[in-house]
Amino acid sequence: MRNLEPANFERIIHDKQTRLFCCQNKNLEVIFSNYGARIIALYYGEVNVTPSYPSLDAYMSPTIAPYHGATVGRYANRIAKGKFVLNGKEYQLPINNEPNHLHGGPEGFHRKIWNIVRTKSTGITFAHFSKEGTEGYPGNMNVSVTYSLTEEDELVISYMAKTTEATPFNITNHAFFNLNGEGSILDHQLQINANSYNPVDATLIPTGIEKVDGSAFDFRESKRIGEHINKEEEQIKIGGGYDHNFVLNKEGSALSFAAKVIGDKSGIVMEVFTEEPGIQLFSGNFEAVKGDPSTFRNTFCLETQHFPDSPNQPGFPNSILQPGEVFESKTIYRFSR
Ligand code: BGC
Repeated sequence: MRNLEPANFERIIHDKQTRLFCCQNKNLEVIFSNYGARIIALYYGEVNVTPSYPSLDAYMSPTIAPYHGATVGRYANRIAKGKFVLNGKEYQLPINNEPNHLHGGPEGFHRKIWNIVRTKSTGITFAHFSKEGTEGYPGNMNVSVTYSLTEEDELVISYMAKTTEATPFNITNHAFFNLNGEGSILDHQLQINANSYNPVDATLIPTGIEKVDGSAFDFRESKRIGEHINKEEEQIKIGGGYDHNFVLNKEGSALSFAAKVIGDKSGIVMEVFTEEPGIQLFSGNFEAVKGDPSTFRNTFCLETQHFPDSPNQPGFPNSILQPGEVFESKTIYRFSR
């Protein structure tokens, strides 16, 4: 599989076998692992736009690449102090990003060996049963993610979930992109279809919704990711760069244009469309590989999502999935040159 050695990704974890799967069409080739239902590599032509690690060890490590390409849940992003109240009951989730709960907890969806429900040459469906009480969340949940490649050079990600009890739910894919394939991402051009964003407190929990006008967060017109990344702005300092949710310009939950990025060296264009209300721009603010400064700001993430800490923020779009409801949401990454 390109330059990946499949055996390096084969492990037996909790009696389940992990392995690589490959889907392709004319211009796209995507290599997945059932460990975290994740994207390991995404080739557009000859360029791997989600730089890969050579073995599963990096993805299993809590510090190297735990979220890279993974399906993240039950609640992607942060819940303040890991607490929320639902139907009069207070819940405490594990704190894995002091003082908050991050990305579903240390044993979130990204760590699970997902079942393979369906494979074909241009797509794959992974499913997971998340037992009540896992990482502190209420209700038994069945969740699936389907990746499909289209003739329009799109990677379509479709999520589906059901629960037996009301539960916070926020699911995303956490691919780390570099449209040049390697090197700094600071000269990539980025546009985000958002008039506002969520400023955050010192622990990266949203404090409200603010207009992007005149700030480093104004990506309404395309600009270099690096243009304002070192600006003397409080929010940039708190994030150590961008680590913020943008409030997408949209009515309801229709599929709509969220962002567009252009690799300055490759000319590869990636457009993001989503049914989600928000998108997190994360500019790789912590060295991707600890202790290796050459990896700093070599990737960026655009994670489609509900807003961080929504269970505690009544003004944000609802993120509680109720029993009897079927959660369905779609995000598309479309590539062109
Ligand atoms: C978060 C960052 C976090 C990163 C980990 C992002 O979604 O916003 O704060 O460090 O995930 O990969």
